[in-house]
Amino acid sequence: MSNVHELTFLKEKIEELKEQGVYRKLPVLETPSQSEVILDGKKVINLSSNNYLGFANHPRLKQASIKAIEDYGVGAGAVRTIIGNYKLLEDLETILAEFKREEAAFVYQSGFNCNAGTIQAITEAGDIIISDELNHASIIDGSRLSKANKGIYKHSDMDSLEAILKESRKKYKNILIITDGVFSMDGDIAKLPEIVELAEKYEAMTYVDDAHGSGVLGESGRGTVDHFGLHGRVDFSIGTLSKAIGVVGGYVAGSKTMYEWLNHRARPVLFSTSLPPAATGAIIEAITMLMESTEYTDRLWDNAKYFKEKLGKLGFNTGHSETPITPVIIGEESKTMEFSRKLFDNGVFVSGIVFPTVPKGTGRVRCMVTAEHTKDQLDEAVKAFEKVGREMNILE
Ligand code: PMP
Repeated sequence: MSNVHELTFLKEKIEELKEQGVYRKLPVLETPSQSEVILDGKKVINLSSNNYLGFANHPRLKQASIKAIEDYGVGAGAVRTIIGNYKLLEDLETILAEFKREEAAFVYQSGFNCNAGTIQAITEAGDIIISDELNHASIIDGSRLSKANKGIYKHSDMDSLEAILKESRKKYKNILIITDGVFSMDGDIAKLPEIVELAEKYEAMTYVDDAHGSGVLGESGRGTVDHFGLHGRVDFSIGTLSKAIGVVGGYVAGSKTMYEWLNHRARPVLFSTSLPPAATGAIIEAITMLMESTEYTDRLWDNAKYFKEKLGKLGFNTGHSETPITPVIIGEESKTMEFSRKLFDNGVFVSGIVFPTVPKGTGRVRCMVTAEHTKDQLDEAVKAFEKVGREMNILE
């Protein structure tokens, strides 16, 4: 008789992953997440972090964190609705609203939580959520938590979106269109001006998850809405505080009404403890730095362009990215993982990304160039790509 507590059904699935060549043992990072790291005891150039601006280990953020701990301690103490907002968290929401040029910003403990909590709170049965097919998993999960109906349009295909909108206007009360601002696996930017126009035509609300646009696109990294000059025409602007901002957390910027409602209905905030002061203090410093100077965002774009051009010239397929996210498409899952392993052996850490994160047969290594990389590091990485690419017959 099988013993259910041995979790045989899971062991079998794990074996399947091993057979498919996609089983992974996560490496151990022995240094801060920076442009060069020690992973599993080996020094490698890091092309795997979302630390776009190099803020994750920045001395100014560290100092702000230490000060926040001294002033407010290490923990928030309880969920906000029980203990209230600590002053620093209020300061963070104020500076984020200013940065995003919106009336208000509501902070969550992570970007994932932000999508999980906001989508559910602002939709109900009788509404419809219309989502780009390549939207992030947290949007999919957030939508699943909502009782609203769901529609999915083909990736960045405005005809497909309009067809659903046309049908929906007759059937549903509120319509919410959701898109990633920057698509995290391909680095392309949403067609936000067209989406906003369609939304206005069909009286729909718009929701942009700018996890990879915040700190990257727009003036001083204000994001995709700013990049397209669409302030006041997007209802919900989501950002993470874990990527370019270098810390952890997420937020939605929008109207005061949105803020008031989320304060009463955003379940991850109602039922889970707030960000710790150390994170909050560091984030405030990061936003202050972005508003002070474009030094970091300029360097990020310069490095990204440099690296992308070099890989393209060698004949790698870098897809159609418009942002620093640089995918190198390999295709087959096990070949992708082998490419990533061989790059590691040659001193470059870049994760293989395969199904189910991306569609089957479109496995890739996703290079994340940051403002912190030196040109020497990027040149060294390109050399390793060329060597392994030739060995594995990947160059076109
Ligand atoms: N949305 C998008 C588009 C993302 O790429 C991510 C991070 N992978 C998230 C949300 C979640 O953000 P966080 O890591 O801050 O929870």
